[in-house]
Amino acid sequence: MSATILDGKTIAENVRLEVKEQVTKRVAEGKMVPGLATVLVGENPASQVYVRSKHKACQEAGINSYGHVLSADATQQEVEDLVIELNDDPKVHGILVQLPLPSGLDEERVLNLVSIEKDVDGFHPLNIGRLAQKGRDPLFIPCTPAGTMYLIEQVVPKIEGQNAVVLGRSNIVGMPVALLLVRANATVTICHSRTKNLPDVVRQADILVAAVGRAEMVKKDWVKPGAVVIDVGVNRVDDPTAKRGYKLVGDVAYDEVAEVAGVITPVPGGVGPMTIAMLMKNTLRAAEIADLK
Ligand code: NDP
Repeated sequence: MSATILDGKTIAENVRLEVKEQVTKRVAEGKMVPGLATVLVGENPASQVYVRSKHKACQEAGINSYGHVLSADATQQEVEDLVIELNDDPKVHGILVQLPLPSGLDEERVLNLVSIEKDVDGFHPLNIGRLAQKGRDPLFIPCTPAGTMYLIEQVVPKIEGQNAVVLGRSNIVGMPVALLLVRANATVTICHSRTKNLPDVVRQADILVAAVGRAEMVKKDWVKPGAVVIDVGVNRVDDPTAKRGYKLVGDVAYDEVAEVAGVITPVPGGVGPMTIAMLMKNTLRAAEIADLK
C-alpha cells in the first residue's frame, strides 16, 4: 500500500486565500484592517526567519503587521512594557511574542501579560486552560496544533471514537493537540520520553501525531496499516549533497512509513505551512472579536 500524501502547502494556501477574501470583505464594509504585532527579542536567526515569514503572510492576506525588535539584553520590564503598550493599541488586534525568549527573561510572565483577546498564539494560560476544560471554549487555539487538527479533519470525516496517539507532550504542540483530539471525541494516548513499549503503543493509532523532535524516529513497523500519520517534527540532518549542507526531515521515517500508512504529511510541506495559515486566521478572528466591543 502507498499512502496518500496530505499536501499541507496547498491546504494552507487555500486557508490564507479565504482569510484574504474575508479581510477584503470586512475592509469594504468599513471595518478595521486586522493588525498583527510581533515582538522579537534578540537575534536568534531561526526566530528572525519565522517573524519575517509571518510579516510576509500578513502582507499577502491584507493584514497590517507591526514588527517590534528588542535587543538580546532587553530587560524583563522593557519586554513587559512593550506588551502592555500593544495591549492598549487599537490598531493591533493580535500580539505574537516570538519564542523562545533569550535566557534570563521570564517567558511565562510575558505570555500572561498578553491580553487574552489579542492572544493569537493561544499560549495565554486562560486560553490553554479553557482548551482543557469541558464545555469551555478558548478564544484562540495555538497555531501548530490548530493546523494539525485542520489537516486531520481533511482526511478523517469522523474523528469520534478513533484511537489517536500523540507522540510528545510539549506545551506548544503535543499537549494542545491531545486536548483538541479529546474535544473531537477521539480516544487519546499521550506518549513521551518515559513511555514504555513505545512502538507497541504507537501501533494502536488510527491517527498518529508525531511531535518529538527526533529525526525519523517513527519506523514502518510502528504504524498500523492504513493509519493517518501527521508529522509535526522539523529536524535538521546533515546532507553534503544539499546546498546548505543539511536537509529537513520529520519525526517519521517518511519513505518507509508511506508504504504502510493510509495518509501521511511530508516534511517540509505538511504541518509547517499550516502554522502560519492558522496565525492569519487567528488574527482575523482577533479583529472580529474587537468589532464586538
Ligand atoms: P519539545 O522538545 O518541547 O517536546 C518534545 C516531546 O517529545 C516531549 O514531550 C518529550 O518527552 C518527547 N520525546 C522526546 N524524545 C522522545 C523519545 N525518544 N521518545 C518518546 N518521547 C520523546 O518539542 P516541541 O513540541 O516544541 O516540538 C516537537 C517537534 O515539532 C520538533 O521537531 C519541532 O521542531 C517541531 N515543531 C514544528 C512546528 C511546525 O510549525 N511545523 C512548530 C513547533 C514545533 P518529555 O516530555 O518526557 O521530555
